[in-house]
Amino acid sequence: MPRPMKWRKVCRLPERNKFGPLDSASNDQDQINMTVDEYETIRLIDLEGFTQEECAKQMNIARTTVQGIYVEARRKLAESLVNGKVLTITGGEYRLCDGLENSCGRGCHRHGRGRRAGNKGRGD
Ligand SMILES: [Zn+2]
Repeated sequence: MPRPMKWRKVCRLPERNKFGPLDSASNDQDQINMTVDEYETIRLIDLEGFTQEECAKQMNIARTTVQGIYVEARRKLAESLVNGKVLTITGGEYRLCDGLENSCGRGCHRHGRGRRAGNKGRGD
């Protein structure tokens, strides 16, 4: 049964949180800040292959909310890539997954830590 949940659940924090062009010194005007929840939509949808629906379920938010976050995240990625801006991932309205929740399946890097054998397949 869905409960109202204010915080966007994030199942994996970025290991690195600063990205940008390697061949030039950047100045402070060329900075973009991506929030951790925006990063999570990119990770789930673009890397793990989630639909927006699945992503919404895993993050405990509405699909329309995911859509908004995702669009913004993509815009920031594009701006960094195209305009050579430094992208920093920090902040946002999120809480880190404790790995104990049923809504977590594939793509959760806190779920079932330390046990690798016998993967029963997706979703569980
Ligand atoms: Zn999780």
